[in-house]
Amino acid sequence: MNTQQFFANSIAALKSQGRYRVFADLERQCGNFPVARNYRDGAVHEVVVWCSNDYLGMGQHPDVCAAAKGAVELCGAGAGGTRNISGTNHYHVLLEQELASWNGKEAALLFTSGYVANQTALSTLGATIPGCVIFSDELNHNSMIEGIRHSKAEKHVFRHNDPDHLEQLLSAYPKETPKLVAFESVYSMDGDIAPIAKICDVAEAHNAMTYLDEVHAAGMYGAEGSGVAERDGVRDRITIIQGTLAKAIGVVGGYMAASASLVDYVRSFGPGFIFSSSMPPMVAAAALASIRVLRNQPDIRARHQERAATAKRRLAEMGIPVLPSESHIVPVMVGNAAQCKQASDLLLTKHNIYVQPINYPTVPVGTERLRITPTPLHTDDMMDHLVKSMVAVWDELELHKEHPAKVAAAE
Ligand SMILES: *Cc1c(COP(=O)(O)O)cnc(C)c1O
Repeated sequence: MNTQQFFANSIAALKSQGRYRVFADLERQCGNFPVARNYRDGAVHEVVVWCSNDYLGMGQHPDVCAAAKGAVELCGAGAGGTRNISGTNHYHVLLEQELASWNGKEAALLFTSGYVANQTALSTLGATIPGCVIFSDELNHNSMIEGIRHSKAEKHVFRHNDPDHLEQLLSAYPKETPKLVAFESVYSMDGDIAPIAKICDVAEAHNAMTYLDEVHAAGMYGAEGSGVAERDGVRDRITIIQGTLAKAIGVVGGYMAASASLVDYVRSFGPGFIFSSSMPPMVAAAALASIRVLRNQPDIRARHQERAATAKRRLAEMGIPVLPSESHIVPVMVGNAAQCKQASDLLLTKHNIYVQPINYPTVPVGTERLRITPTPLHTDDMMDHLVKSMVAVWDELELHKEHPAKVAAAE
């Protein structure tokens, strides 16, 4: 086999399907969020970013940047090892304590990313609890799927956000069988939210542990912002809460929070935790500062929800096909990979608006979309410009519009 030819052919096939990924070359400007410089075609353009997962702009918050600078001056750039071999810095200890208390759990554990947290926690638990059976929502993130697959545990996939189907699958096992139900709170592509209490009812009836990915909720829901489980008053019913420090917290890294013994177990047996160097102290310090701000400033969350609701309403009023979502995510359906890319390109090159096209395999074929994430720092002027530009692009490409009244009613 000519492997070089194989690589080239595979890429050519992606391109012909219109889903070859082109990264926008950005330079974020501290203090100017959500504006960034975009390096493109040999020039530099100023663009407004409308698709960042730095949902609250915390990556540039003055307290967060000051904490990172302070830590780099105090400790230098890197941690110097794995957690066990010289790489536990005091900032890691403080951050784990903060994460435990923020999530209402006895203990917490840091990972280098949210992806590694899911992969390590699920693969370790699934592989080492004797006879463990895992029940997984069909729309779970790839990091959970990979963790479950790697565990080689017996697995069942339940229909998305469907506690009745979960109940059916759980019923096939006796109470003594160890079970784990893995799901997310906010699903980031459709912006829908899991019926956490109902899933807990079913899980508890069958003596199953629960594993909740709060990656797209941490920082944004609940009185102190730890997630939807806090908002819904069901944190005590969740066995393991997992999250990221890279989205609303604005830095990088992942975590899990649970009972002291469960956290100690993953700390002691999880390869993705044990064998990887710990995050730089400046990263831990920045994340710690960000969480402290978010715990104490619910007004950031209120403004965030208002911006998202306003964007949904205003786009729908113009007939732009917004998926009615219950969360801060504003999915706009295009339904075709090539058109989705064209719409994104036009927004960028003609209107200085950056929204990345979301294509397969991130979403199913036929549901390609622009996924807009308004933040508290998007102004009314930016919103006016977004709505006008989206309408211009929809008209230019003759994309499908909804009847405005219908969309408004659905919302
Ligand atoms: C982004 C994401 C992750 C991975 O988190 P990172 O910190 O970016 O590695 C995990 N779960 C979900 C649902 C995600 O969207």
